[in-house]
Amino acid sequence: MAETMKGLVRTCRCAELTTDDIGKTVTVMGWVQKNRNKGGLCFTDLRDRSGILQIIFEEAQIGAEGFERAGKLRSEFVIAVTGEVVHRSGEVNKNLKTGEIEVIAKDLRVLSESETPPFPIEENSKTKDELRLKHRYLDLRRPDIQKNLILRSKVCMEVRNCLTEEGFLEIETPMLTKSTPEGARDYLVPSRVHPGSFYALPQSPQIFKQLLMCSGYDRYFQIARCFRDEDLRADRQPEFTQIDMELSVVDVDDVISVNEKLLKRVFAMVGVDVELPIRRITWQDAMDNYGSDKPDLRFDMKLIDVTEVVKGCGFGVFTGAIEAGGSVRGLCAKGQGAMPRKKIDKLVDFAKDFGAKGLAYLCINEDGTYKSSFAKFMTEEEIDALVKAMGGEAGDLLVFAADKNKVVWDVLGNLRLELARQMEIIDQSKFEFCWVTEFPLLEFNDELGRYQAMHHPFTMPFEEDIPLLDTDPGKVRAQAYDIVLNGTELGGGSIRIHRDDIQEKMFDALGFTKESAYEQFGFLLDAFKYGVPPHAGLAYGLDRMIMLMVGADSIRDVIAFPKVKDASCLMTEAPGPVAAAQLAELGLELVKQDE
Ligand code: ASP
Repeated sequence: MAETMKGLVRTCRCAELTTDDIGKTVTVMGWVQKNRNKGGLCFTDLRDRSGILQIIFEEAQIGAEGFERAGKLRSEFVIAVTGEVVHRSGEVNKNLKTGEIEVIAKDLRVLSESETPPFPIEENSKTKDELRLKHRYLDLRRPDIQKNLILRSKVCMEVRNCLTEEGFLEIETPMLTKSTPEGARDYLVPSRVHPGSFYALPQSPQIFKQLLMCSGYDRYFQIARCFRDEDLRADRQPEFTQIDMELSVVDVDDVISVNEKLLKRVFAMVGVDVELPIRRITWQDAMDNYGSDKPDLRFDMKLIDVTEVVKGCGFGVFTGAIEAGGSVRGLCAKGQGAMPRKKIDKLVDFAKDFGAKGLAYLCINEDGTYKSSFAKFMTEEEIDALVKAMGGEAGDLLVFAADKNKVVWDVLGNLRLELARQMEIIDQSKFEFCWVTEFPLLEFNDELGRYQAMHHPFTMPFEEDIPLLDTDPGKVRAQAYDIVLNGTELGGGSIRIHRDDIQEKMFDALGFTKESAYEQFGFLLDAFKYGVPPHAGLAYGLDRMIMLMVGADSIRDVIAFPKVKDASCLMTEAPGPVAAAQLAELGLELVKQDE
């Protein structure tokens, strides 16, 4: 039978007690982690979010009736214990914060009993994800998840403190809104009052934060929930949290400088000293050197452009790609020359997954001879020149991709990461940040047959590139920047267009008619007519940031109630059907979907 808390006051959390508290009478409350009855003594590990504390029940202290109740405690019972803090009588437990002390119970109240949980509440759980997520309220009791969520809360506080000190105001923007153009599908909410009309949940507060700049709020931030209805890749969530900000009358350096201060403070919370200034790499250099706009700088192994070296050689795959306007680039995997054929074939398959037609390779044997998929098509001099250009030495493996630049970067960028993983050359203790700048403003979407914004349509081009919008839109550089950590994009933003003539040009390049642009963003274009300060902003993915800070394997480990890959919640079983009456009220009718 559960007892009440009447008259009881918790004096502290379990693991807040130290040897300084010895001799004190305390009242603690928590869950029974473990209870062992060792003839005349009960040892109970009591757990709350601070950690674990050992409680000792002895008959002499708690009386016969109390001792009997203590003997019946089982895992996950919620209890309150009043007792005296003493030195541990047994061996000190070095794995526990409270390993030098224990509490001798004088009073016990069972506040709530528990059935046997479907899985043990323990760190590094071996329990299948599905079962844990179905009972997420139990999973969330596990100390490793609690540690992550506690850090998350503290990071949000630090962000608030830092940005407030930097002159930012925290302002909320609507959840029920109009579609915002971040390029993904919207989640729609039907309106009851306006049958047939829908709100969209925000993909980001983008337009609202720009309007706040128009309205003179100067510096805004928000820890904002965003929604994107994308086909879920392994570690994406349909709703996620951004640290979102916008600043007036600033340039790229100003935005970067505020954010470097923020990153320094936030990462210091996990003992990482972010060296300032963070290095900056242009998009072009990132692609040329790392084959990625989010380069992992924890190791070197750069891409090497050998287009000029192999131009006119006898190998048709290379020359064909060059003639078609592409390039030939390679990677030198140090010391991997003896890689067995089977493993090399796997690399070839890996490359094909990223769009390569094949992967040319050359192993430099220890005796200086070669084993290669293409050497027979080239003269000895050509091979020597190629090996030299690649910095290849005896014992190295050289791999080459020849195709359109986009394919070559993608293939080798991913292969670089894969080889580094296999070679175990990534120092997991490193936190390597970089800013990637000067992104292309637009990218051509082959499926749509037109350009689309690489960031979003409100990104300002480089002033000197504006004329290219009419002649060669693919060449226009954007005043955009991403912050990258260990090969993961932490956040990104841009200087915004604040002139309606440039905004119209941009919409034009994106294939909007004047009418359609007005229909979607008329209020923004109107706002630009009434005096708008130049402005810029940035948003971080908070979930990802915390994940990297705590070294979690999955984004789900840093979100209290995450969804799984098909965007459902295993605990609440959302999304679910609704009553016919609810649909009727909204003026909606379901159409049977083809299976
Ligand atoms: N709204 C952008 C995003 O969600 C960030 C920004 O430009 O501030 O990626």
